[in-house]
Amino acid sequence: MKSAILTVGTELLFGQITNSNSVYLSQQLNNLGIDVLYHYTVGDNPKRLAEMIRQAFADCDLVITTGGLGPTQDDLTKEIAAEMLNDELILHQDILSKLESYSKRANRVLTNNNRKQAFLPSRAVRFDNELGTAPGFALEDKGRTIICLPGPPGEMTQMFEQKVKPYLQEKTEDVIYYKIIRTFGIGESMLETELKQWIDGQTDPTLATYAKEGEAYLRITSKRSTLEEAQAAVDDMIENINQKIGQYIYSYDGEDLYEVVGKKLLEKNISISSAESCTGGLFAKTLTDLPGISAVYDRGFVTYSNKAKMEELGVKAETLEKFGAVSEETAIEMTKGLKKVTGSRLCISVTGIAGPGGGTEEKPVGLVYICASLDDKIICKEFRIRNISRSWNRNYALLCMLDMVNRLIDQA
Ligand code: ATP
Repeated sequence: MKSAILTVGTELLFGQITNSNSVYLSQQLNNLGIDVLYHYTVGDNPKRLAEMIRQAFADCDLVITTGGLGPTQDDLTKEIAAEMLNDELILHQDILSKLESYSKRANRVLTNNNRKQAFLPSRAVRFDNELGTAPGFALEDKGRTIICLPGPPGEMTQMFEQKVKPYLQEKTEDVIYYKIIRTFGIGESMLETELKQWIDGQTDPTLATYAKEGEAYLRITSKRSTLEEAQAAVDDMIENINQKIGQYIYSYDGEDLYEVVGKKLLEKNISISSAESCTGGLFAKTLTDLPGISAVYDRGFVTYSNKAKMEELGVKAETLEKFGAVSEETAIEMTKGLKKVTGSRLCISVTGIAGPGGGTEEKPVGLVYICASLDDKIICKEFRIRNISRSWNRNYALLCMLDMVNRLIDQA
């Protein structure tokens, strides 16, 4: 099945709201194995809306709209949809009664505009709205289906999950199964190059790579007649991929790096503490996002100034003087000091130049040193992060820290 998503609302065109409905629906349709060919957005304008629906049906057999189902004059999606799929609106008495009692309770008069919501195309499959007043519906005509859903994301997602999904599942014969592999330390283009042989010749499973906030993701999807077949095809492909780029993979289930790290720390019962300079506590914040991490996370220092590095961690004044705060020597002393203070099995420290200012030719913005120790083992690494922005540099440094911890735990 080929589909288009059509979001209706002038405020979308003004950029006043983010089009989260399109993102949600695209993800859902892809998960159901329905190809999404187009995203259209149109204002509250009947002529242009009709034109968009006509255009969408030129290539697609399914069009899903959101918005424009409400009570106001410019909410005309339903009328246009009925007209285009050769149907007419009829009154649903039970919806009208519901609207009447709702108005009574709210001490309001039911206007003709409100009444409009009780009309639906005569052949429509109705999707009642548990959270609002405007019902959604599906309407079919000559192999074409239009599904009209309300605009408010809460109403739309609940309706999709509970009513539209089962409706679409009945129409699609194939089962879709996918896994998202998450990698760190390999860029998206490198990932594509490494997996070229499967990406180029892909039929099923299909491979898609995408980059997100410093990481590269890989989605492996199979569409087969049974779930078992699809799962087996995806698992086989994962084995191939693992042989090629296994060293960069940290999750086969789409989990975040901090979740993977936190869970491993808990599983192996490894105590951990952190000392941060340029990331200003990001590591501590992120790791403590994981519920239950208090069983292993002891404490975190934000030692931003030289004074703090000396007072809290015992970094020597001479080290700071001779090598600078952003240096391998300082990072190592930070970690050693942290270990002394906390006694944690795993200690990690970071020092770097987050920018935008403060960089020199010798020590540019994005230069970061991360030092971690696990029991008697200690490693320190220099990173030269591509300087995109202060926030990017800090977030990337955080990922480097998590990656280092992840690799160390694997050796424990
Ligand atoms: P209502 O009964 O509330 O009028 P409706 O189906 O007519 O619902 P709209 O009036 O088009 O929907 O939109 C209602 C609200 O839903 C918008 O003001 C906006 O906050 C949100 N909304 C609409 N479309 C989208 C979208 N594509 N993405 C995210 N939010 C949306």
